Amino acid sequence: MILAVTMNPSVDISYHVESFKLDDINRVEDLRKTAGGKGLNVARVTAQMEEAVMATGVLGGTIGDYIVQELNKSNIPNDFLKIKKESRNCIAILHEGMQTEILESGPALSKEEGAAFLEKFEGLLANTSLVAVSGSLPKGLAANYYQQMLKISHKMGVRMILDSSGESLSQALLCEKKPFAIKPNTAELSQLLGMKVDAEIANLKQTLNHPLFHGIEWIIVSMGGEGAFVRHGDDDYKVTIPKIEVVNPVGSGDATVAGFAVALNRNQSVETILKTAMTTGMLNTMEAGTGYIDVNKMNEYFDFIKVEKVD
Ligand code: ATP
Repeated sequence: MILAVTMNPSVDISYHVESFKLDDINRVEDLRKTAGGKGLNVARVTAQMEEAVMATGVLGGTIGDYIVQELNKSNIPNDFLKIKKESRNCIAILHEGMQTEILESGPALSKEEGAAFLEKFEGLLANTSLVAVSGSLPKGLAANYYQQMLKISHKMGVRMILDSSGESLSQALLCEKKPFAIKPNTAELSQLLGMKVDAEIANLKQTLNHPLFHGIEWIIVSMGGEGAFVRHGDDDYKVTIPKIEVVNPVGSGDATVAGFAVALNRNQSVETILKTAMTTGMLNTMEAGTGYIDVNKMNEYFDFIKVEKVD
């Protein structure tokens, strides 16, 4: 089973208004409400690929209840720690071809809740072959919280894919127990290392030689429409993808993590793992929904992806 962790899930609400007026009443023409958060996207795409998955993390209040309801409706098994405070809403207002976002930071966890989740996490790992941890940490947890989760997953012998950014990622990479895989984009690499990282191969090769990355089995640097640069052990790969019609690219990184996790969990070859990861990322961009793919299109795009080893 793949375990998909979201520590700060949300209900994502998108409001469509014809024109957005400040200091006035805006009447919503159309709205959409979904269970959001990077790990939930990973869980959804993994379930769509018919791989056994469990969504976990922390949630609370009626917003938390709504998230569970939505997961149950989509037949995604879930087991979250219930916390005292209410989970968050994230609002996107779509107007005149623009997107104005209002994002709540989410509930602050108490020390006891932080400890309780680590206990739950360890319990869930007993039935897990691969764990994907995605997104930011909620307030109240120490910046080294993912480091603590990493230590537990090492103890339990479960490989961890960590898709995070900023302080929580850099703290986790400082741990002597490294994640099995990470999936930064070039902006996240730049932020992590405090220097500009561009999509140029020589630059990426040199960047990944940084001691922070030593001991990580898979580093997938995703580059949107440019595909990805990947280091697996001592080997580097350039993965090229075809041009496609993009509808909504949000959540493509999460769909990529899901495809990668599923292929890895099925013990597939390096080439198949990378092609699957890129295809799920691409399929996500072709749908209006976030963290959602049309699995029937998998074969149509898979063969157009080129995986080349680079020296
Ligand atoms: P997000 O934060 O929105 O989840 P990300 O920055 O983590 O995204 P990206 O590098 O944008 O991730 O995209 C991940 C993968 O999705 C890419 O490697 C590619 O396979 C696919 N993808 C993303 N954008 C495009 C695009 N414009 N055209 C084709 N494929 C895309």
